[in-house]
Amino acid sequence: MNITFCGAAETVTGSCHLVETGGLKIVLDCGLFQGARKIERRNREGFPFVPSEADFVLLSHAHLDHVGLLPRLVKEGFRGEVIATAPTAAIAKLILADSANIQVEEAAYRSRKARRRGEEALPPLYDMGDVLDTIDTFRRGVNYNEPITLNDGVKTIFHDAGHILGSAIIELRAEGKTLLYSGDLGNLHKPIVRDPSDPPQADIVLIESTYGNRRHRSMDDSVAELKEAIDTVIGRGGNLLIPSFALERTQEVLYELFRLWQNKELPKCKIFLDSPLAIATTRVFARYPSYFDEEGKEIFARSPNPFNFPPLHYTQTADESKRINAIPEGNIIIAGSGMCSGGRIIHHLRHNLWKKEAGLIIVGYQAHGTLGRQIVDGAPHVNIFGEQTAVAAQIWTVNGFSAHADQPILLDWLKKSAAKQIFLVHGETESLVGFKKAIAKSLSTDAQVATWKETVVL
Ligand SMILES: [Zn+2]
Repeated sequence: MNITFCGAAETVTGSCHLVETGGLKIVLDCGLFQGARKIERRNREGFPFVPSEADFVLLSHAHLDHVGLLPRLVKEGFRGEVIATAPTAAIAKLILADSANIQVEEAAYRSRKARRRGEEALPPLYDMGDVLDTIDTFRRGVNYNEPITLNDGVKTIFHDAGHILGSAIIELRAEGKTLLYSGDLGNLHKPIVRDPSDPPQADIVLIESTYGNRRHRSMDDSVAELKEAIDTVIGRGGNLLIPSFALERTQEVLYELFRLWQNKELPKCKIFLDSPLAIATTRVFARYPSYFDEEGKEIFARSPNPFNFPPLHYTQTADESKRINAIPEGNIIIAGSGMCSGGRIIHHLRHNLWKKEAGLIIVGYQAHGTLGRQIVDGAPHVNIFGEQTAVAAQIWTVNGFSAHADQPILLDWLKKSAAKQIFLVHGETESLVGFKKAIAKSLSTDAQVATWKETVVL
């Protein structure tokens, strides 16, 4: 068995690992690299394997950093099969279509600038045609805990990862060994989704390390912080912006806002969900209640519910979005992208970031090099659409909403897997170093930090 780390090695984005076993080439996730320019350049470098030779892609979940390079893999010759849970497949199609639109728009913008300089511009990574070809490769949905035979000697089983709707931990059995790929592991007690499943016993584990060096504050503390931010900002008549990942984080924030509203703890305001992608993914959620936890099933069976309650307004078109800035302030605006690297949130930041009465709640991970990270790191000014913009709004970082497990959860999960060999993926340097030390101390097993393009023979 060989494993090649093709992405999310010493960084959090671009998840992709090639496993060669039992005569098959199996790709675990095929994600987009995001963040700093030198990381994003990897999207154009080509895969460290021949795409046409790969037999399967097994998808852990539908976040862009786990599925976003799939159309490129197809464009470069992949003709195998993509296997995912039904919600992952449904959401991946939306995420990839949105990504193709962004790629094409950005390429057109680059091309205009390059032509002025008399240079050639980079084409889009892929377009909608490539996404349609990619959708053809999703031929089979998989249920949790149901073994799937890939060939005579290789089986896979997906387990609930509790990270986002439909997310999976992927188990591969081949050559008498069990390999476990954690995908992204969920935090405990998150709204809507279930807690991550306990792992089966495994020989080899590839585990995410996003918060390998951190302990999250509790969900109750986070909800209290959310409430404090709302009372403060709405109380002084400012707008409260929540940059949010369209998938999962948005739905969780809506869930908590709904609970505040239900308990009459939400001040009078409007809540705008200003993201066509988030609106579309919210609809997919409503289609798969069987993937919710018990509390989620109960809440969503009723009306009003977190996706449909009086203060909540969905703004679909660009015109509706622009009108938000024309109404009196004192509202909550949820918009993408989650790391402020594009999308409608940029327009809202331009309108609000320089105002003392405004507020910004950061509810998700901010990768190095993104606008969101600069704001969290305390930059006094940031560049928005080429203009220096002062950061005067009040900033809250609420990390209990994290969709990722923290160090104690990751360690407990690893311990249960009884893994003999551990590879750390999907983390930035400080998390990887901290997690490796913690593993050595509490499990007395040596974990290895995966390196980009490295192949290990097992
Ligand atoms: Zn994820």
